[in-house]
Amino acid sequence: MKVRSEVITIGDELLSGSIVDTNSSMIAAILMKIGVEVHRMTSIGDEPQGIMDILLEASRRSLLIIVTGGLGPTEDDRTARAAADAFGRPLTLHEPSLQSIREFFDRIGIEMTSNNERQAYLPEGSKVIVNPIGTAPGFALEVGESVLAFLPGVPRELERMLNDEVLPELRRRFSSGQVILSRTLRLFGVGEAKMDQILHGALDGLSGLSLASLPRYPENRLRLTARANGREEAERLIETAEARLRERVGRWVYGVDEQALESIVQELLRRRGKRLAVAESCTGGLIVNRLTDIPGSSDVLDRGVVSYSNMAKTDLLGVPEDTLNGPGPVSAETAEAMASGAREHSKTDLGLAATGIAGPNGGSDSTPVGTVFLGLSDETNTWSQHTRLRGGRTNVKTLAATIALDWLRRYLLGENPDEYQTPWKR
Ligand code: ATP
Repeated sequence: MKVRSEVITIGDELLSGSIVDTNSSMIAAILMKIGVEVHRMTSIGDEPQGIMDILLEASRRSLLIIVTGGLGPTEDDRTARAAADAFGRPLTLHEPSLQSIREFFDRIGIEMTSNNERQAYLPEGSKVIVNPIGTAPGFALEVGESVLAFLPGVPRELERMLNDEVLPELRRRFSSGQVILSRTLRLFGVGEAKMDQILHGALDGLSGLSLASLPRYPENRLRLTARANGREEAERLIETAEARLRERVGRWVYGVDEQALESIVQELLRRRGKRLAVAESCTGGLIVNRLTDIPGSSDVLDRGVVSYSNMAKTDLLGVPEDTLNGPGPVSAETAEAMASGAREHSKTDLGLAATGIAGPNGGSDSTPVGTVFLGLSDETNTWSQHTRLRGGRTNVKTLAATIALDWLRRYLLGENPDEYQTPWKR
């Protein structure tokens, strides 16, 4: 059964641009787990009449409505009152919720203020949705055939309550009985338009499958979703579809689902028994930052050197002054000297380096903004590659770090570093 469902996010700060509405997409992704598709998302300010209007409209057109925000203790938190007024269910004190709010404050050792009590007043007839990690309880209201679930705006609390409290109930109520599985392929090195063209018709003849292309700069993701009457069938569908996609775009796929590029690199370094040192100029430590985001990085990463000035390149990495004065700090020779210098100084197996001009200033005719040289060094060889990246400073840094990690990944898979291809390779 398909359920017409919608999401309403409440808060002036969503409309003023102070915060980005990430709750809606999180809710949609969580509902997808039980096959419930979201048909509409609305963000609305804290003004009570506006909230009442949207709640009433939604309850007329959708069977399931998830509402977030405005359940807090302050004056501008008006969601519960608006729901009470919209549906003629007066606010009444919910004693157990008041008790849990008191206990929450006892636990964290902070005195409870009287306005926190407001959070325990819920529209009559609502069912409480417990909030195990915050003060504001959520609540569910049945209006005619529709169910409205009101949850706090804080993403961490929302996620926990949705998964633990709301989903099991929805599964009982709305689940279609079908099994829904999804798998996401993560790609780097191919643009969305090209990928779309290459994939045209790839899944023809497979029913019960959908494919979404989800660009996440500078990467791309392809999410396959299968719906079937049993788990085995859903798994078979996903596998068949994945194989078809890989046939066409497999050379750009670096991981699946939650696997980040840096975690794949870490895993490969560990498997090959290699330790790495990184020397960064234009990326300012971004490569090492990404590698150290993954637990266990100390097993494979020895050090990262941010050698921004010429002097730092010479002092810390032994880049010859002749190289810096001749070819220059942004050159293949310097990238190679940085990579081999990092490796030799740290006595690691591998050195990886990035030097370039992130902009907006500092470019010249021969070395325009966006020019990046990467270096890679092992016990027997040193390689460099030249790319010319577009976009602002942050984009250049992000893309340079991603290309460096992808280049290292492919080297670790046994590919020849001289043959590395990206759309940005010059
Ligand atoms: P609280 O218990 O904290 O008072 P609340 O239900 O009142 O929860 P809000 O006050 O609306 O929620 O929001 C609390 C915080 O949660 C906001 O400051 C914001 O950082 C975050 N937040 C709220 N709505 C969203 C949203 N739609 N997307 C992402 N973050 C959000």
